[in-house]
Amino acid sequence: MTVKAYGTLAGDKLLEPIEISRRATGAHDVQIDIAYCGICHSDLHQARGEWAGTQFPCVPGHEIVGRVAAVGAHVSSFKPGDLVGIGCIVDSCKHCEECEVGLENYCDDMVGTYNFPTADEPGYTLGGYSQQIVVHERYVLRIRHSEEQLAAVAPLLCAGITTYSPLRHWQAGPGKKVGIVGIGGLGHMGIKLAHAMGAHVVAFTTSESKREAAKALGADEVVVSRNIDEMAAHIKSFDLIVNTVAAPHNLDAFLTLLKRDATMTMVGAPASPHSSPNVLNMIMKRRSIAGSMIGGIAETQEMLDFCAEHNIVSDIELIRAEQINASYERMLNSDVKYRFVIDIATLAT
Ligand code: NAP
Ligand code: ZN
Repeated sequence: MTVKAYGTLAGDKLLEPIEISRRATGAHDVQIDIAYCGICHSDLHQARGEWAGTQFPCVPGHEIVGRVAAVGAHVSSFKPGDLVGIGCIVDSCKHCEECEVGLENYCDDMVGTYNFPTADEPGYTLGGYSQQIVVHERYVLRIRHSEEQLAAVAPLLCAGITTYSPLRHWQAGPGKKVGIVGIGGLGHMGIKLAHAMGAHVVAFTTSESKREAAKALGADEVVVSRNIDEMAAHIKSFDLIVNTVAAPHNLDAFLTLLKRDATMTMVGAPASPHSSPNVLNMIMKRRSIAGSMIGGIAETQEMLDFCAEHNIVSDIELIRAEQINASYERMLNSDVKYRFVIDIATLAT
């Protein structure tokens, strides 16, 4: 089946309309008509070849929502018309230690939604900036939000789970002081989720213009991280910091804000490395720097259900497909509140 998509032919080229093929719906597959797809900063890193190994043409997109169009003969948990989502994972080995416990995100053979090897044409996966996708039922998520909220649900599939998972793992909740660094797509979800979990939330931003907006998202306090005095007021006080920044920066400035035994979890994945932190800042208070990658399928479903129950969606700016390139530039300039979402219907017009 041939479908319309938006992709790029090389790292230094703009995205443009292209046609791609999708596999026939297998016995365990769900065929999905994509309604909306969010734009993650990872899409930009990948489309521009900033991370090693991008294959071209590249069709990004792993914040996918839509309706089931058809299901394979052995699929019993989904039916045509259901509202569903696809996040960053479309396959994994299904039997390793990680898959057994629902941590497919850490399976060595995890297949990401785009740019990962697959038997399908053209030999690697193509993402959600496209009209349809066909995915094994194990990796399909159920959406319990209302139809009207659907576009704003899309970013939960990556930005939502990528912040939810470390907040749960490091037990954000009542009595905990949690910092969220960078108020972009991931960071704004981190603020909403940590707030809903009952933590005291402090947002760190480089953008003075986001100070008031961050409070509206649920931050109890906002720190402009370029202001040394504002930073110093929070020294040795955090139980957890989730760092979403997409560019190299000074990690010591945040490490020193952690309490004894506390952790800063890195989720931002800049194209070039951070300079090494001063290990003394870890040694002195037994502090840790950790990392976290998206979340498993069961946890992604748990996050979607948590968000439906607490009426949490992303704050989005809905765009047409031909605005994707301009949106990438605006995202680079931190000029988005807080996620661009593509109206996939505009691919056809
Ligand atoms: P985004 O929307 O562009 O947000 C990143 C934010 O970081 C910006 O809005 C800005 O916030 C801050 N920032 C940007 N440049 C900065 C700089 N030079 N110094 C300090 N702060 C800066 O990006 P995103 O979609 O949230 O993604 C963030 C990162 O996470 C990307 O690297 C992405 O690839 C990665 N990611 C990782 C995972 C994972 O599984 N670990 C999953 C998805 C994405 P302020 O204006 O508030 O400062
Ligand atoms: Zn993403």
